Amino acid sequence: MTNDWETIIGLEVHAQLSTESKIFCGCSTRFGDEPNSNTCPVCLGLPGALPVLNWRAVELGMRAALALGLHINERSIFARKNYFYPDLPKGYQISQFDQPFSADGVLEIMTADRDEAGHAHDWRPMTVRITRLHLEEDAGKNVHEGLPDVDRYSYVDLNRAGTPLAEIVTEPDFRTSWQAYDYVNHVRRALQWVGASEADMEKGNLRCEANVSVRRRGDKTFGTKVELKNLNSVRFMQKAIDFEVERHIKTLESGGRLTQETRLWDNRLTETRPMSLKEEAHDYRYFPEPDLPPLVVTNEFVDDVLKSMPELPDVRRKRFMEQYSLSFADASQLNAERSLADYYETAVEASGGNARATANWIRSELLRELENAGVTAAKSPVPALELGRLVSMIDEGKISGKQGKDVLVAMFASGQSAAAVVEEKGLVQVSDTGEIDRVIDEVIAASPRQLEQYRAGKETLFGFFVGQVMKASKGKANPKVVNERLKEKLK
Ligand SMILES: [Zn+2]
Repeated sequence: MTNDWETIIGLEVHAQLSTESKIFCGCSTRFGDEPNSNTCPVCLGLPGALPVLNWRAVELGMRAALALGLHINERSIFARKNYFYPDLPKGYQISQFDQPFSADGVLEIMTADRDEAGHAHDWRPMTVRITRLHLEEDAGKNVHEGLPDVDRYSYVDLNRAGTPLAEIVTEPDFRTSWQAYDYVNHVRRALQWVGASEADMEKGNLRCEANVSVRRRGDKTFGTKVELKNLNSVRFMQKAIDFEVERHIKTLESGGRLTQETRLWDNRLTETRPMSLKEEAHDYRYFPEPDLPPLVVTNEFVDDVLKSMPELPDVRRKRFMEQYSLSFADASQLNAERSLADYYETAVEASGGNARATANWIRSELLRELENAGVTAAKSPVPALELGRLVSMIDEGKISGKQGKDVLVAMFASGQSAAAVVEEKGLVQVSDTGEIDRVIDEVIAASPRQLEQYRAGKETLFGFFVGQVMKASKGKANPKVVNERLKEKLK
């Protein structure tokens, strides 16, 4: 039944740009300050106050646009978007309309199907067309909870009013909720990666809205569209889209009609409901902002910003696959965060170039420790250089891989170097053949029966001899050398 229908999804993401001050005044953008403490005549919309553009917001907006593959427009126009709402003291929001800051983006993301448990499989590239990314100011916040008399009054906090936002709008290119999910995660990581935004949905500095409709397969026209809001996490967005798609199909198949409307996701009831406030018939009466000149960016400025940007995550993942011969999954995991990718490259170098072993040590051992401690690679108690040294000690046979695991845990707990832990624990592996030969001779002398059986053809007893030698050396003998010498001596 569901296969008869095609889902069409377009997304709008609002990302707060990480400036210290607001976009048109000098007020702080700090989160969590005393309500209305970060305000001035400009962001309060007092008569006669004039906006002045914060150039840092332009620079960060440009980083975001370039990271998402958008074309930067040399000249863009700020416009007034007029509407009335208590958290908007000016009666209009300064945004951009027909001449946005950047447009016509083509972005490649990775997307995957999910099984019933939600596990991703079959990662593959997908192209998303980004219509535009424009700059605008945020509104304030109406406060309906947390104060003693909110049953009688609503409060307004204008600390957020005038905070710079990048609004990123896609074409209706997504066909499943998981594609939308993978896209928003891609955008979030890209913005964090280039330092454009903290992109933290919990703090509200990344917000998304989804436009969802369905149509019969083969239809050329779009079905009735619903706008979804109040999507406080990427997972909520994904669930809300699935809920809507099912509701649309059910309604249409039972002969019902859909209304074009805005709906809110209620995560407690896991359903969407119509927004009570009727604000569907938007008439914002946009007109160019008379108090701001056109925004002009030169090619030199664009070049400077480009030069200052780090290598983007997807480019870096591809390089990791080629340069270090890593699988897609390994390279993706190591590129999940910029600090981790940096960590990996430093560690590979310190290990003497053992890219594969370093990747394995990070993925199987270090990440677990980091997760348990709740810290990122940038704050790892084991610096990248030391992890690389540990990998090279194992490579050189100074300690065994098994000992290495204990050493890493001790390094993580104490912050000591690999060499210091190995010395303190007296772990240095014995690779000296003379010493190992002496132990082997003792073991052979003590096991005449096993020696006889082995020489008579019972080769499985080789493992017994290895075990005895390792035991006699208290685990310190280098297993590789033990194997070589035992083969020689048991002949
Ligand atoms: Zn202000």
